[in-house]
Amino acid sequence: MSDAVTAADEGIRDFIRDIVASDLKEGRTKSVVTRFPPEPNGYLHIGHAKSICLNFGIAREFGGRCHLRLDDTNPTKEEQEYIDSIKEDVRWLGFDWGDHLYFASDYFDQLYEWAEYLVQEGKAYVDDLSADEIRSHRGTLTTPGRNSPYRDRTVKENLDLFRRMRAAEFPNGARVLRAKIDMASGNINLRDPVLYRILHAPHPRTGDKWCIYPTYDFAHGQSDAIEHVTHSLCTLEFADHRPLYDWFIENLPVPSTPRQYEFSRLNLTHTALSKRRLIQLVEGGHVRGWDDPRMPTISGLRRRGIPPEAIRDFVQRVGITRSENLVELAYLESCARDLMNQSAERKMAVLDPLKVTIENYPEGRSEELEAVNNPNDESAGTRLVPFSREIYIECDDFMEEPPRKFFRLAPGREVRLRYAYFVTCKDVIKNDAGEVIELICTYDPETRGGNAPDGRKVKGTIHWVSAAHAIAAEVRLYDTLFKDEEPSLGDDFLDGINPNALTVLEDCQIEPSVADMQAGEPVQFERLGYFARDPDAAPGHLVLNRAMTLRDSWAKEMAKG
Ligand code: ATP
Ligand code: MG
Repeated sequence: MSDAVTAADEGIRDFIRDIVASDLKEGRTKSVVTRFPPEPNGYLHIGHAKSICLNFGIAREFGGRCHLRLDDTNPTKEEQEYIDSIKEDVRWLGFDWGDHLYFASDYFDQLYEWAEYLVQEGKAYVDDLSADEIRSHRGTLTTPGRNSPYRDRTVKENLDLFRRMRAAEFPNGARVLRAKIDMASGNINLRDPVLYRILHAPHPRTGDKWCIYPTYDFAHGQSDAIEHVTHSLCTLEFADHRPLYDWFIENLPVPSTPRQYEFSRLNLTHTALSKRRLIQLVEGGHVRGWDDPRMPTISGLRRRGIPPEAIRDFVQRVGITRSENLVELAYLESCARDLMNQSAERKMAVLDPLKVTIENYPEGRSEELEAVNNPNDESAGTRLVPFSREIYIECDDFMEEPPRKFFRLAPGREVRLRYAYFVTCKDVIKNDAGEVIELICTYDPETRGGNAPDGRKVKGTIHWVSAAHAIAAEVRLYDTLFKDEEPSLGDDFLDGINPNALTVLEDCQIEPSVADMQAGEPVQFERLGYFARDPDAAPGHLVLNRAMTLRDSWAKEMAKG
């Protein structure tokens, strides 16, 4: 592993990386193989990103490989659309499975053979109890289960029935194949778990070939063994399944012995990280789709304008442990803000335009003023911003009767237009309703670039765009998907949705250089936040999403201690 980037090189340490490092050092494994095993029954969310970064990250750091395996054992819930989105999202996050794309359904023949093997060994039996009866026989955490009356069928009878299950002789739910382990086990997962169920449903990949499907538990560990996965990393809810996975590995002629290690799930405030709940939001029309920027999905975060580096950075900072945790959404935003503050180009845009006429600026004239693209990156250079007699400023940058500490524009007051001139408000024009609809200002030609040769100072600097040159845009602003920090995910969870999570501004005015902005390249609109082009944008109709404001509530909390 000479050319491997080691975890230590990248400065990442956690208990799983420690285990991997010591397995390599002690020779318990020669190379590291991990996998990310999503079930293609929904889009990936930020919680999955934690698992993706861990599995692909470890493979890269230790010179091993990471497989992408779709755990597609439940054909009624799985769709090609989900498979495609999973691949796109993993790639976008910056990871590459190379030739190692696998499907649990690739192993259906092998898994079936192993099921017959267990039957032959007297370690599996066909049960005719209904699902409800199986449940009532299972016992509880404090009471043992009861044996099924079918538990002692002969090998011959079991084999015959199992083959007939496969041959489509029985309807859905008529029979199942169960492992014969121990109905009194303290671990409920070992109380004769179901291995195969009858499901007359076509599979996205195997079509009509099968009418019986392995359970997730029967497929998962063996798939790892087939792929020679060395470290099977999963979330804590699978810790109780580990004895069962180990039982399969011990009792089947599998080609390798994966070891499972569990870590805690990522939980995030103000959102839901459960595909079951996210599907309901999509199907119920509560959001515009899986990639709605309000969603905690990878595709939603991408559409919103959050860069993949920010997600990787966030996941790394959260770290890998076994303790349950709830991470502030503001922390993710803070990571993204740090990154975009370094990389995003600055532009000017006015979200809520108020027209300003500069009465001493010649009609029909315009000029171009130099503006800095990124104060944190000199190599980003400068651009030219058009200026003319009519401009727009932000409505809330003007107050007719300003309170103390309001340093922006007001009647008689002078402010700096960013990169342009000092202007003074001379007159206020109102409509019949008494609302301010236009300001009449004068400018001082001596202050070009933003400084007065006579040394006089102004307290406020505001942003603006030239009315004749600006492009109109629809801008979408976002707030958290759920009102509460820890929304209830019970049956009433829809009640917790934040009705103000999306605000659409139809009539924004944007600096013309934004016209050729690409999706996935967030920019900072000065004083307003970070914005990205939405795929709804069409020629003549610019649509932008605000990825986030400039205000860092996380940093503020930290400062407060
Ligand atoms: P959900 O509860 O959202 O349906 P899941 O666990 O059923 O998620 P899978 O497709 O089975 O979804 O997940 C693939 C992998 O991602 C698993 O190894 C799982 O442990 C991991 N994973 C899922 N959610 C999280 C999370 N919130 N934090 C960390 N890892 C997660
Ligand atoms: Mg799952």
